[in-house]
Amino acid sequence: MEQNQNELLDQLNRFTRRSHSLDEVYIFDLILCDNEIDRDGDCFSMQALAELQNRFVGVTGIFDHDPRSGNQTARIFRTALRRDPERCTKAGQEYCCLTANAYMVRTERNSDLIREIEGGIKKEVSISCACGKRVCSVCGKNHLQQPCTHIKGRVYGGTLCYTTLDDVNDVYEWSFVAVPAQRRAGVTKTLGGQADAETEILRRAYGDALRTVDQLSEAIRRDVVRLCYRWGDNACAKALADSALHMDAAQLLTLRQSLQKGAAPAAGKPILPENPHMPAKNGLSAFSLGSMERSEDAHE
Ligand SMILES: [Zn+2]
Repeated sequence: MEQNQNELLDQLNRFTRRSHSLDEVYIFDLILCDNEIDRDGDCFSMQALAELQNRFVGVTGIFDHDPRSGNQTARIFRTALRRDPERCTKAGQEYCCLTANAYMVRTERNSDLIREIEGGIKKEVSISCACGKRVCSVCGKNHLQQPCTHIKGRVYGGTLCYTTLDDVNDVYEWSFVAVPAQRRAGVTKTLGGQADAETEILRRAYGDALRTVDQLSEAIRRDVVRLCYRWGDNACAKALADSALHMDAAQLLTLRQSLQKGAAPAAGKPILPENPHMPAKNGLSAFSLGSMERSEDAHE
């Protein structure tokens, strides 16, 4: 332990302008984040963790929501990735976390704080960073460029939906969360670059709108599945109903419209059009369509 502290002090002193003694500084370690899917249904890619590892060295942490801590800060002087081959993430990958060593210069004012950290009271850490990519595990779309309607936490054809955060382009801060309510480190993820207040409001509104679309999509999906089996339970109906699982809101709307208009397929005739790019004659053309524009063509 003592040996370890001395080694860390060496590393710390290589990092700071002035040399400190072990009595002067308080050195502690923390877990910044990991590659497990968090409570928002997000996880970091291994590449993102490696980027965070580089970028968090030298970053100052704050002690949030604690008026007693005033403007106390701590600074990270070393980071490392710690893999655990015994542990598997929900996404089926080897568990890996980003650990950090931080220090505070001991003062009278931060002695209480140090006692709290030592006592394990301030264990939860939240980080704030910017990611250029949020990739859906089901369809591979980057939500920052092309949102999809897959809902995190749901399973689509055996695939759990979550987003992988990648392309870390900035880190802002880390902070201790005073309330140790959560099991794991919390992560604040900023989309794209640093956001001003207006952008933040728009993002929130966008998030709300996406959630509404998700809910509406689910209702339409249920409708579509019901319509698929309207004329009986057969392989074609099942194929069509299964395909609805992967459709986005626009595709579902078009398919529902077609199914509502469509007549029962003649016995023995396939429901699906032979060429998926050609409008079908039985009113089920929308199945092959990826967008509303094409559905307009199909209805001519
Ligand atoms: Zn998706």
